[in-house]
Amino acid sequence: MIDLSTLTIASAREGLKSGAFTSRELTQASIDAIKEKDGVIHAFLEVFDDALGQADEADKQIKAGKDLPLLGIPLALKDNILVKNHRATASSKILEGFVSPTDSTAVRKLQQEGGAVILGRTNCDEFAMGSSTENSAFGPSKNPHDLSRVPGGSSGGSAAAVAGNMVLASLGSDTGGSIRQPAAFCGVVGFKPTYGRISRSGLIAMASSLDQIGPFTKTVTDAELVYEVLRGKDPMDSTTIEDDTYGTGKTFSKVIGVPSAFVEGDGLDPQVKKNFEEAVEKFKGLGYEIKPVDLPSLKYSLAVYYILMPAEVSSNLGRFDGVRYGLHSGGDHGIDDYFKTRAAGFGKEVRRRIILGTYVLSSGYYDAYYGSALKVKDLITKELREAFKEVDFILTPTTPTPAFKFGEKSSPLDMYLADIFTVPANIAGVPSLSIPNQTVPVEGSDLPLGVLLTADLGREDNLFVAGKEFLGE
Ligand code: GLN
Repeated sequence: MIDLSTLTIASAREGLKSGAFTSRELTQASIDAIKEKDGVIHAFLEVFDDALGQADEADKQIKAGKDLPLLGIPLALKDNILVKNHRATASSKILEGFVSPTDSTAVRKLQQEGGAVILGRTNCDEFAMGSSTENSAFGPSKNPHDLSRVPGGSSGGSAAAVAGNMVLASLGSDTGGSIRQPAAFCGVVGFKPTYGRISRSGLIAMASSLDQIGPFTKTVTDAELVYEVLRGKDPMDSTTIEDDTYGTGKTFSKVIGVPSAFVEGDGLDPQVKKNFEEAVEKFKGLGYEIKPVDLPSLKYSLAVYYILMPAEVSSNLGRFDGVRYGLHSGGDHGIDDYFKTRAAGFGKEVRRRIILGTYVLSSGYYDAYYGSALKVKDLITKELREAFKEVDFILTPTTPTPAFKFGEKSSPLDMYLADIFTVPANIAGVPSLSIPNQTVPVEGSDLPLGVLLTADLGREDNLFVAGKEFLGE
């Protein structure tokens, strides 16, 4: 019997290589764990019926002496990452019945360059919009640390799948924090690379200038392993860039900037504050120099995000017209089909953002909202890039509070505040890593918290070094 709770990708690779177990056994262990636990947690929307077949294929390759970085390792994918001949819904009713005709580049790389087994698809907020998975059309996922609380979002299913020991790693997407925030709520590692480092081809778009795919893992070592398979230029995504300097930044000077005024703004939970201060001390103990940094524009990040993101959402989601993909609700004529399909297929939050985005892009308001937000985006980016001339990392908590209860964030605005610390990295396009940092007692549960390390463009290598040191890997 394989105990998934004691394995990481790195140790499972050793087990597979030494013949301690096979990929079929490892994949079956995931399937069994899902059967046992996922009725309650609801991390998965589907376990693929070809998973064991893929595992058998991997076992053949292992026997033949092939050595790929993820060979035989089952991975789960957020349900907005396309897998050929499999369903993908982005947790929306509008993609009912849609079967992907192609693989996303991420999946192709995982399989061909990594040798991974693609296990199934995980629940998320509809079209990745949300911070709790409560916006999924298929019901929320639960936090394995406390079933009355959210796992975070939007990639909450992917986080819960790893934290619940149903799979060793998973992929999510991060537009404003959707990998890092659920990683923190669930006590796992969550990583968003530099914009353009991982191809978005085959990722169902939310806000294209901000979206990035990234991994959820139990260790930073594993996040690095998955990233190294996924990274690279892709002819299918013209925003991908060659990262020639990756791996050359390892002799950094170990200076961490802490933007105290930003961190201690409104709404920081006292336990999070204390936990963060302990993380700062821990880094000091590891030989890092802590420097105060002043980043006065960061406080505008959420405002900028909630203008730019819905603008892109309103445009990207125009393609769901009841003709090309998924759901079709017939009306009296073409335009009526469109209204009927979209009314039946989209949930409340998605509609809210389409309306907001259409508004900020409308000719009367473009300059006042969209145009201004673009200028502030530049300001935030410049400020951060400037800071990285003085420090290697910016350190903040990942979230202002531990995981909240279902239904607790009743207004959309309350929910949006959960992303205060994660959004700046998406706006500036820089890489950012959430690392679990102990748990705090809340109403009888031990809830995980995360700290967020953010680095300059292309410096994911430094993030991995610091993250591993912090976790003692
Ligand atoms: N929670 C944020 C939002 O609702 C971030 C979403 C994401 O990163 N996909 O937009």
